[in-house]
Amino acid sequence: MVNDKMVNKKALALLLDPEKADLSRLTFSPEACPDYIFVGGSTGGDTTAFVRALKDRLSAQAGLGRPPVILFPGNAAQFTPEADGILFLSLLSGTNPEYLVGQQIRSARAIRDSQIRSISTAYILIDGGVETSTMRVTGTLPLNPGSAEGIQTIIDTCIAAELMGKEAIYLEAGSGAKTPISSDIIAAVRSHTSATLIVGGGIRTPEAMNAAYAAGADIVVIGNHFESHPEELKDFIKDLKDSKDPKASATDERFMRLALAEAQKALQKDEIPIGCVIVSQGQIIGRGHNLTETLADVTAHAEMQAITAASQTVGGKYLPDSTLYVTVEPCPMCAGAIGWAQINRIVYGAPDPKRGYTTYAPRVFHPKSSVSNGVLEDECRALMQRFFISKRKSGLSPQNGIFR
Ligand SMILES: [Zn+2]
Repeated sequence: MVNDKMVNKKALALLLDPEKADLSRLTFSPEACPDYIFVGGSTGGDTTAFVRALKDRLSAQAGLGRPPVILFPGNAAQFTPEADGILFLSLLSGTNPEYLVGQQIRSARAIRDSQIRSISTAYILIDGGVETSTMRVTGTLPLNPGSAEGIQTIIDTCIAAELMGKEAIYLEAGSGAKTPISSDIIAAVRSHTSATLIVGGGIRTPEAMNAAYAAGADIVVIGNHFESHPEELKDFIKDLKDSKDPKASATDERFMRLALAEAQKALQKDEIPIGCVIVSQGQIIGRGHNLTETLADVTAHAEMQAITAASQTVGGKYLPDSTLYVTVEPCPMCAGAIGWAQINRIVYGAPDPKRGYTTYAPRVFHPKSSVSNGVLEDECRALMQRFFISKRKSGLSPQNGIFR
């Protein structure tokens, strides 16, 4: 449950340090509640007692829909089975074995036995202009975003994280950071990973949060400020919900990059590399990639997977006011499904003259829908060409012998 929400929704997480937060002054309501509460700190505090008290307070004030309480531990001692989940962090920006794997080994058995949801997370410190307690405790330096080389290292660290199988990447500027992680860095990382992207440190305004979301963050973490001003949380969340995404014209390229990231997943499974995301109000409500070989199912095209996922997210079969991004022109089957779902905007990358819907069923979409194409067309096409060239070289061709 935690995972589904984390993947599909632009979310707000409130970070509370058991040693600093004054629970008695925090006010939650069903209308103004963060999506997650992260609990953790660099040093200590009684995490078990804090999480119990926090859950009681949340249940009393926010009711049944209380947000999950997720541990964000600074060390193994901060684990408690009272939480709903844990970010199983590994500090990949530094090379201190104690925080890469040592603390993890110490807490592994207790976490597994508790059966709480563990989210494998790469924790990446990025210089935010202040010395943080994490730097002192772990004896590591943050990555420096101030040069092209530094940015390359940040991106490469995130690529390594994904290759290691991390479900989430947490970009941290540090609590009390002078400068939050820049939109450029977030967008650069986003274009290289499909992992859940968590961004925190130095974010104090709804504008800064919206900028992070627009650049590709899935979860934005606020904290520090609300530990000393907890009464302001309610208004902050209201302001955030009222504010519109400043980049509502949100670059089609950004979402097509996410569709390309899905296509990469298909490629890794030796499937024809086509990926798809469905977006509503700036949020991804469904994603999918081609799985016809894996599932031995000719209907398992990327768009079909994404439509099914989106329908589950919204809890209904129609997806009006949403945009579907797919790396290659849909086939007649998928175009039919897109029409049935009443998706009103379709954006595709590369055309498919052989199998695309325009050849067979150009009027298949809902009459009010609009279609754009050619977004990141070269990259979408290159991915397909690379796949088919490698297949020809290896003497193998996809079993169904058609485009996908
Ligand atoms: Zn299709």
